[in-house]
Amino acid sequence: MDTNPSASLDGFAPETFRRRRRRVVERLGEDAMVLPAAPPLIRSRDSELPYRPDSELFYLTGCREPEAVLVLRGRSADASIVLFIRPRDPEQERWTGPRIGVDAAMDLYGVDRAFPMGELSRRLPELLEGTGRVHHRLGVHPSVDALVVEALRTARTRGPRTGRGPRSVVDPGEILDELRLRKGPEEITAIRMAVEATIRGFRAGMAVAAPGVGEWEIQAEVEAAFRRAGASGPAFGTIVGSGANGCVLHYTENRRRTRDGDLVLLDAGAEVRLYAGDLTRTFPVSGRFSPEQEAVYQVVEDARQAAVAAVAPGKTVQAVHREAETRLLLGLRELGLLSGSVDELRGRKAHRPYFPHRTSHWLGMDTHDPGDYVRDGRDRPLEPGMVLTVEPGLYFPLRGDGAPLDHPFGGLGIRIEDDVLVTPDGCEVLSAALPTEPREVAALVGAV
Ligand code: ZN
Repeated sequence: MDTNPSASLDGFAPETFRRRRRRVVERLGEDAMVLPAAPPLIRSRDSELPYRPDSELFYLTGCREPEAVLVLRGRSADASIVLFIRPRDPEQERWTGPRIGVDAAMDLYGVDRAFPMGELSRRLPELLEGTGRVHHRLGVHPSVDALVVEALRTARTRGPRTGRGPRSVVDPGEILDELRLRKGPEEITAIRMAVEATIRGFRAGMAVAAPGVGEWEIQAEVEAAFRRAGASGPAFGTIVGSGANGCVLHYTENRRRTRDGDLVLLDAGAEVRLYAGDLTRTFPVSGRFSPEQEAVYQVVEDARQAAVAAVAPGKTVQAVHREAETRLLLGLRELGLLSGSVDELRGRKAHRPYFPHRTSHWLGMDTHDPGDYVRDGRDRPLEPGMVLTVEPGLYFPLRGDGAPLDHPFGGLGIRIEDDVLVTPDGCEVLSAALPTEPREVAALVGAV
């Protein structure tokens, strides 16, 4: 095994990062981009949360280290790509593990220049001198913000004489989000691996489910299976919502013991090579749906199928959502909870109390991957290589005072979520191996 886990590019070819940087540099024109690594986060007192490498920095370099800053310049005679990184430090490395170091970083990441982090404050103003705008996310790294502000201040005093910037700051997402939206083959491979590990987790979690099993025990099995499948862990907080907890959209406490007759809503995703899976299944803890549960489940499943069928190049996320909405409205009407025409019900957002979220989000290195759903006032058409979730749901939270609702669905929360890749002629459900059909789902509960 490699003794230095950060001295690899996670299965990505060095050329992939070079190509991405070339695209950014082309789009920068006169501008520059300053991308600091995500800061380490304190969990409590002096213990840190496990470090999650920065998505944008990784996207352009393959670098997983904290305390690094990448600077890209659109028009530069000598060095367009400059990386500042922690220098080797044997004493520190005994505590926190091996670092790449400045020299190896140049070779591994293929940047034009690399300097120790300590030289950032001296060199950054010089690198930004004369550029147009600075693409930098303000408000995350106060120390880097201060250097960017200093470069702007200097340019304001000299600018009138030289006619040169930088004059303003814009968010790097303007360029990077667009690139990240369209996934390349290595990214799709990583997402496939993440989805596969996620499915292993779901099978393991559902296998131990039985009345009386704690939500936390299901969580433990799911996450253990992620790790066994080679994932670095969960991509986000695992949701195991039994009974009415299934109605809490971001429920992550997972400390209720399930009861006979409960549904369990499991929403989880494994992270592999920094890419996320994100699936949801809702299953009867006893292994059998009640007629009421199955009726609602079938409505959500119909909505999922209709929404998935609407994913294709040229279609939009909004159209996918509309398809799910229509099916849910029809279903709510059949369940006797709404009456009226679908258009009239849609017009007054009659589904909102039961379906308060969107059907889809982009999926990639971030579970809610960046990218605008609307561009220039119009819904963005889907393109091959985009990856999105399809996750309709219906929720009937109990009333706060514990009084029964005037229908038999109180306390049910059902969501079914798949990960979908847009292909040249439609789409591929990456999570198709994990059943959604109610009988097949029920059969996974307690399965050995
Ligand atoms: Zn999701």
